[in-house]
Amino acid sequence: MELLEQIVRAGVVGLGGAGFPTGKKLDCRVEWLIVNGAECEPLLRTDRYLMRHNAGRVVRAAGAVARMVGAKHCVIALKRAYTEEWKALEEALVGEGPESGGPAAGRGPESGGLAAGRGSAAGNYPESGGASVPGTVPIELFPLDSFYPAGDEQVLVYEVTERVVPPAGIPLDVGAVVSNLATMNAISDAMDGIPLTKKYITVTGEVKRPTIVRAPVGTSFEECIRLAGGSKEERYCVIDGGPMMGKVMGYEEAREAAVTKTTSGIIVLDEDHYLSVLSKTPVGRMKRLASAACIQCSYCTQLCPRNLLGHPLEPHKIMRRFAAGGDIPSLLDDPVVRQAAICCQCGVCEQYACPMGLTPRRINALIRDEMRKAGIPYERREALWEADPERRNRKLPTKRAAARSGVLDYYDFEIDTLAEAAPSTVRISLRQNMGAPAQPVVQEGDRVREGQLIARCPEEKLGADIHAGIGGVVTKVTDYIVIEARG
Ligand code: SF4
Ligand code: SF4
Repeated sequence: MELLEQIVRAGVVGLGGAGFPTGKKLDCRVEWLIVNGAECEPLLRTDRYLMRHNAGRVVRAAGAVARMVGAKHCVIALKRAYTEEWKALEEALVGEGPESGGPAAGRGPESGGLAAGRGSAAGNYPESGGASVPGTVPIELFPLDSFYPAGDEQVLVYEVTERVVPPAGIPLDVGAVVSNLATMNAISDAMDGIPLTKKYITVTGEVKRPTIVRAPVGTSFEECIRLAGGSKEERYCVIDGGPMMGKVMGYEEAREAAVTKTTSGIIVLDEDHYLSVLSKTPVGRMKRLASAACIQCSYCTQLCPRNLLGHPLEPHKIMRRFAAGGDIPSLLDDPVVRQAAICCQCGVCEQYACPMGLTPRRINALIRDEMRKAGIPYERREALWEADPERRNRKLPTKRAAARSGVLDYYDFEIDTLAEAAPSTVRISLRQNMGAPAQPVVQEGDRVREGQLIARCPEEKLGADIHAGIGGVVTKVTDYIVIEARG
């Protein structure tokens, strides 16, 4: 079976957060395949765990995908500070790691970047028998600084290729495709005929034993927290994802939540944590605060990663219009305001740059939603974009991002344990990916086995199939499919 078909059949979606169907994304021809191992969200450790323990599988998938998309360059980008992970990948590249092979010549994370030379090896995939074969694509390791958001697709493409992805564009516009490292691990499973039914998740924060949990999709967050020793707080909030971009859930919502294909982190925090309070600020209050407190210092713009790439996004100017103007729909004719559509929601402006505790990111999100509702497309005005020469000096160190977000206490946790979840019930959302929700192909009362197809991507739509994470009996089919593990 062709690799692309294996990926589609396994229901693989981008595991870095957005959940874009991988079969669709990789149905392309590109010059660059970039595997995103930056894991720039300050508390997440999942990709690092996979690099240390599944390096061979990641390398194998990267080689296979590189060949499939016709890439001339295949790069695994990770922080130069990830020394153990670097070593594990290098070993996999030289064929010393598990399930890997192929020749290599690497120089280690201290090397100065692509031009200066990096770890390198031929891609390894089943057909190659673990050895270099004609037509294989060299895989190289690319060292990134420890900054946030190094893993943002557009930032990463610039770091590796020095090409600027146009505003509202995608890496394909400059001949690149970016795929998350955990996605590569899932592709390796797909190559073995194993569908994506289990997720590796960092469970950290106010838990007794921060750990990586491997959980079937549909496992409750509560079960994952229990496997990390339980919460230290009686009532808590949870961040679904990382502290910079993740979704904050209140106590009740978190107790109802279940793992999806895109869950990468479950961060338990005090119910009244700063991030929880910030996430609840109502629009009216944001506006009053912007009017009263925005001092137009422009730090939000100076440190904005998209502005630093040369994109015409200037959050301080949007704030000025928001503070002075009427409601959001009345601002949408203003071309400056419309630039909110190219905000990547990284949170640098809000959680780090702004000295007044204001919320440019959330205001941008509101504007973008209103533009969508009004059917206003983003229009590029310029034809060329050049990164700011100051960009190198304005990268936000990851540890400082953690400190300003109030999560520094958890930043230095060493997490290298794996807990396997074996839930008795899973609640699997039919909305696991970008695009259309999957359509159930099972009914209440059906008996299913682990890995069985239970919901299918609708014909001709962007989406992904869903498979059962546990065997058992289907007890409910609504927006969710509930499976109980009955004997
Ligand atoms: S969230 Fe703020 S810093 Fe990040 S891209 Fe948007 S405006 Fe720029
Ligand atoms: S950083 Fe804060 S105070 Fe300064 S311009 Fe931006 S929103 Fe206003």
